[in-house]
Amino acid sequence: MPTSKSKNYDLIIVGGGTAGMTAATFAAKRNANVLILDAADRIGGTLWLSTGQISAAGTKLQKKLGINDTPEAHLEDIMRISRGTADRTIAKLAVDNAAAAFDWLCDSGLVPVEGQPVKGSGHEYYNEARYYWGADGGVSIYRVLEKVLMTDIARGLVSVSLNTRVRSLVQNKSGRITGVVAKDASGKTVKYAGKTVLLTTGGYAADGAMFKKLNGRTQHARMSYHTCRGDGLTMAIKAGAALQGHDKYLAGLGAALVDDRSPSIALGRFNHWPERRQPWEIYVNAKGERWINEDNPSVDAREHALLKQPELRFWIVLDDAILRQASVPIDGWDRDRYQRAFGTESLFYKADTLENLAKQAGIDAAKLKATVAAYNAAQASGNDPLGRKHMPMPIAKAPFYAIRHQGMSISSTVGLAINDKLQVLRKNKKPIPGLYAAGEIIGASLLMGQSFCGGMLVMPAITFGKMLGERVHKL
Ligand SMILES: Cc1cc2nc3c(=O)[nH]c(=O)nc-3n(C[C@H](O)[C@H](O)[C@H](O)COP(=O)(O)OP(=O)(O)OC[C@H]3O[C@@H](n4cnc5c(N)ncnc54)[C@H](O)[C@@H]3O)c2cc1C
Repeated sequence: MPTSKSKNYDLIIVGGGTAGMTAATFAAKRNANVLILDAADRIGGTLWLSTGQISAAGTKLQKKLGINDTPEAHLEDIMRISRGTADRTIAKLAVDNAAAAFDWLCDSGLVPVEGQPVKGSGHEYYNEARYYWGADGGVSIYRVLEKVLMTDIARGLVSVSLNTRVRSLVQNKSGRITGVVAKDASGKTVKYAGKTVLLTTGGYAADGAMFKKLNGRTQHARMSYHTCRGDGLTMAIKAGAALQGHDKYLAGLGAALVDDRSPSIALGRFNHWPERRQPWEIYVNAKGERWINEDNPSVDAREHALLKQPELRFWIVLDDAILRQASVPIDGWDRDRYQRAFGTESLFYKADTLENLAKQAGIDAAKLKATVAAYNAAQASGNDPLGRKHMPMPIAKAPFYAIRHQGMSISSTVGLAINDKLQVLRKNKKPIPGLYAAGEIIGASLLMGQSFCGGMLVMPAITFGKMLGERVHKL
């Protein structure tokens, strides 16, 4: 039997990360009694790992810099980049309210890096400069949220219970959510009562089994926050919630991993962005075929091409001349570290012939030989059937090298079905009374469709957290 706490909170927040911290602080501004329960031993969630890049249109900073931007233009960019696959209603809600949340962050101490906003970095570019981040990425945002929240904690309006993993929702006979049941730090099962419960438990990318079930794919790398195991989804489903987004999985081009395990640890990321480093190498799949023109300027096109490759896997193939002459392609590595990797790292391969390289790496040997010959002919003629323009050298001088690179996910595609009040919905689209959700638990694809739109996870998490906190007495 769980021990019941006598206090009835105005708002119980399950997950004190990006969205949860923000919701707590805005609810406390309205003198609400708030309880944050977090499974980890500190608040902050994914902000500890995140790059913390955020996008917002119509901000005070843009106005100061003479950038004429609107939420409507931001929304149209999201729909363009996602090829119409983002949820227009929820994306509109996010971008319409993003500037107010961004301005509040800056007024509270966030300092965007000099030269910002920019149109993009890493993901498909926006048509307008509305992309910002602090010098320490997600941690820059964490510090701002922490500072404000500490004041609310000191005022006695927000209580935080760490190492407290919520396992289920309490639901009354009429279906209303009236609290949660958690295992607290001492291992006791405790029942907490609240007028409203907000699920901000983040995604499920740290749980391989759930990842496989919801995405139909293997989670190849351990990149997400360790307590983001999809608990919020599990408990909401038990309370009758519906999920959405199963058909929108997309992986980034990923990283070279430490070993063959799934999930493994990312060792280093090959710089595949032609705007940062033009490719000298070729990319082949397990069949030994090139699957993209490697200098394709659209990262979205490269990601969608990778989605069709077995196990989201490709090998970067080069020869000795390229190894020595091209710039080092792995961020943070010098040439010595790079060259040594081919003798020390398990997914970096080196061989005297292309056949032996293919055999070691697990690529079709005959096809790899034919692919390299065809690429060399294209390089000599300057006419690549795949349309690649940057071909400085053939792949001809032994020894030959390959790096296995693995597409993977740092976020979670599938999420809870919600409406524009951020209420959690049943399959019949009716809200579950007393239950709200914000952050990655609503699924990355709701805001970005089957694409990655810069800053469209952290910013909406903060925006929706703020909106819910502001409405705490009307929820
Ligand atoms: C490496 C990396 C880089 C990224 N870069 C960017 C970027 O540049 N821009 C961008 O927009 N997005 C980025 N993202 C994604 C983005 O950071 C997240 O989507 C966002 O921070 C999630 O916020 P959240 O509030 O939903 O969850 P989180 O901030 O993850 O918080 C969830 C909290 O819930 C707690 N929790 C989980 N289960 C339970 C439970 N059962 N009981 C109690 N507590 C629980 C967790 O401990 C955690 O504190 C990145 C992600 C990663 C991993």
